[in-house]
Amino acid sequence: MSERKMARGLRRFDTVLIANRGEIAERVKRACLAMNMGAVAIASEADAAEASALEDGGPLCIGPATASKSYLNQAAVLLAARASGAGAVHPGYGFLSENADFAEALERAGLVFIGPPASAIRIMGDKIAAKRAMQQAGVPCVPGPGEPLTDDVEVTCRVAEEIGYPVIIKAAGGGGGRGMRVVRNSAEIADAVSITREEARRAFGKPELYMEKFLEKPRHVEFQVLCDEYGNAVWVGHRDCSLQRRHQKVVEEAPAPGIDAALAAATGARCAEACRQIGYRGVGTFEFLYENGAFFFIEMNTRLQVEHPVTEATAGVDLVQEQLWVAQGETIDPASFDRPASGHAFECRINAEDPETFAASPGRITLARFPVGTGIRVDTHVHDGYRVPAYYDSLIAKLIVHAPTRTEAILLMRKALAETRIDGISTNLPLHVKIFNDPDFVAGTVDIHHLEKRLKEGFCANA
Ligand code: ADP
Repeated sequence: MSERKMARGLRRFDTVLIANRGEIAERVKRACLAMNMGAVAIASEADAAEASALEDGGPLCIGPATASKSYLNQAAVLLAARASGAGAVHPGYGFLSENADFAEALERAGLVFIGPPASAIRIMGDKIAAKRAMQQAGVPCVPGPGEPLTDDVEVTCRVAEEIGYPVIIKAAGGGGGRGMRVVRNSAEIADAVSITREEARRAFGKPELYMEKFLEKPRHVEFQVLCDEYGNAVWVGHRDCSLQRRHQKVVEEAPAPGIDAALAAATGARCAEACRQIGYRGVGTFEFLYENGAFFFIEMNTRLQVEHPVTEATAGVDLVQEQLWVAQGETIDPASFDRPASGHAFECRINAEDPETFAASPGRITLARFPVGTGIRVDTHVHDGYRVPAYYDSLIAKLIVHAPTRTEAILLMRKALAETRIDGISTNLPLHVKIFNDPDFVAGTVDIHHLEKRLKEGFCANA
């Protein structure tokens, strides 16, 4: 790393505008400062009121609380970047992070987008195109054609029969676990297609749908990749994110337990090769369903993920700093990533929500206490007196532990959870305590339906 040009003072940008909020904005800021770069924060009116009490000068206010008028407002973000003199924009996750038009607009304005080329975002943003690209690159996919569905119900039924029921109808532009519907027989097809299409049109502005086999008991296992602009691409370990509620991840871990090392190496190598084929740059994640010892690609996320810290812990790499290096035009040395995962890491997403009903719980945090100690990391933006706004997602902190073995990491997470205290609002901390005491979860290898099943059984009642 010391050989890198940037250390010798040759860099494309000195200051990064962070086009996001919450814990990820803090995370990116830390990486910029560690690399001796400037970091400029932006904030909506709802967030600015909180931030200005703490920071010198405070963030640049870019618009009203509603995300579409602030964090999603490309013109406002661009103006803030120009006004601040930043040379690059880090989009974090969510908001504009997977917006190809935004990446292009930045480049037209002479700014560096810290992410992949717009062309790669476009391919992967369309799940049908992504699936086709992956099939071409030899990445194993969920059975089902890489073609959009038509409105011809008879044809759609034939496609479903070829795949074999149950099937899942998914929106090509879907995200955040929305725009999917499971179909168990031909009588359900017509309604499922029309409802999902309408949802897709409304939520994603894109009515295209596709169909694939619905896997009954898969795990969600994903591979982290990192690429430079010169064709060097590596995979940096895998993660298990099977603990989900409504297709949203709740707990993640690295490495995914019980995966055959040779199969993982072969799958990771395919992911890296696919990156080279599409001219990828920066960090990205290949998401797979894993069932009966086989991997099936579902989608690629062309950005940093919420759960990146578990990979950082076990791979010994700072993924945000790597993003910044690559954006500066540095090369990555594949050999330096060719090492096994070290130990085991877990992440709990702590949300401002009722642990039983999952209703959002915005409001004033009267007291926030987080654990410290060896192997514990907390990524958060909240503090005593912080008011959680009602306008954005409910993630208020990520609790990450790293220990030599999975068993030790579970024990450490139990201790870390016990030492975490957030008063004034409801959080899902009691849910995490239950999860880390659930014998099936502790044993490893639960499937993606496990948490929902537990919740139906009253897992969190009286939590
Ligand atoms: P999103 O972009 O909305 O996150 P994904 O395609 O990544 O959508 O799917 C999200 C989740 O939905 C997966 O983690 C899994 O739980 C479930 N899922 C998606 N496709 C399938 C499938 N073919 N079979 C079973 N479950 C699926």
